[in-house]
Amino acid sequence: MTILLIAEHAGGTLKKSAHELSSAARALDAGATIHALALGAGATSVATELAAWGAQAVRVGEEGFEPYAPLCWTCAVVDVANAVKADVILFGAGALSRDIAGRVAMRLGGTLASDCMALSADGKGIKIVRPTHAGRVTTTGAFSGPGPLVATLRANAFAVLKPAQPGAGNVANLNAPTDTADLRAIVTATVQSTGTRPELSEASIVISGGRSLGSAENFKLIYDLCDVLGAAPGASRAAVDAGYAPHAMQVGQTGRTVNPALYIACGISGAIQHLAGMRTSKTIVAINKDPNAAIFNVADLAVVGDLFQILPALTEEFRKALK
Ligand SMILES: Cc1cc2nc3c(=O)[nH]c(=O)nc-3n(C[C@H](O)[C@H](O)[C@H](O)COP(=O)(O)OP(=O)(O)OC[C@H]3O[C@@H](n4cnc5c(N)ncnc54)[C@H](O)[C@@H]3O)c2cc1C
Repeated sequence: MTILLIAEHAGGTLKKSAHELSSAARALDAGATIHALALGAGATSVATELAAWGAQAVRVGEEGFEPYAPLCWTCAVVDVANAVKADVILFGAGALSRDIAGRVAMRLGGTLASDCMALSADGKGIKIVRPTHAGRVTTTGAFSGPGPLVATLRANAFAVLKPAQPGAGNVANLNAPTDTADLRAIVTATVQSTGTRPELSEASIVISGGRSLGSAENFKLIYDLCDVLGAAPGASRAAVDAGYAPHAMQVGQTGRTVNPALYIACGISGAIQHLAGMRTSKTIVAINKDPNAAIFNVADLAVVGDLFQILPALTEEFRKALK
């Protein structure tokens, strides 16, 4: 099997999703030929690490791939997939794959499977496990062609295992398509979030606050606990709409999908649209003063009480314990 990984990086630092793609590719087929593609400023500096993670060949493209233009990147992925005759193309599930994975699948005459939580091969085809109906149902599908499978993988769903042996990692430079007349859209500005907290969709602990926090100032209770635990802060849409937290923190159907080891929902009712973004978290702790809150239906640990008392106490206890 030939597998092409679309490795994302931030200015030359490989994202965790790239390690997950590499691990998933090797778990899918231990004998697979793995190719990796990294695009955008800094791509060249991730080539060695991609080889260490098992890529036999790495293509990098910097010049002409900034600013990001979806059709330019689509063409690059399609060209490489055709050149290496990829059977499977893996993306991390996120903004990039939402933008171009569908276009890539369509142009290659392949099949798109988004937000996969497990992939396995049985000799006849590839078994794909993915959530549907806002995460209420998990479906298992079988893929056997035609065309390549383009799969986007949910963050934190695949075990990360470095290979015993690195790949050959032969590096080749990729030229951007020269005809820019048909790009239709380019990204004119990217606002980098500042701060030292982990990225929401990659974090292993996420602590989210709801409308019940009552103000942006009170979200400090969430941030304080996050900083003690090394967690990423999240929010419900009601909290975001009320201006208590930025949209980048919104978890749910119209926000981010998270899949951490631990999700702590503070004063969040548990509307289906919120659950859609977090219900696959490994362990869910919910703090809510209403014992009948819907969030308790998906919680592993239900804490009935007032978050304004519980959060400062939790932060204090963890601060002491982790000192
Ligand atoms: C098309 C569409 C898309 C949507 N997308 C999203 C999405 O992406 N993400 C999302 O989150 N929502 C989304 N929503 C909104 C969703 O339906 C809910 O309205 C929203 O999730 C509610 O947010 P909340 O739980 O913070 O607020 P509320 O529903 O107001 O719940 C507040 C909760 O806090 C509890 N509480 C109050 N005070 C305290 C206290 N002192 N201590 C402890 N608990 C307390 C209450 O018991 C209650 O359960 C969407 C809705 C639509 C129609």
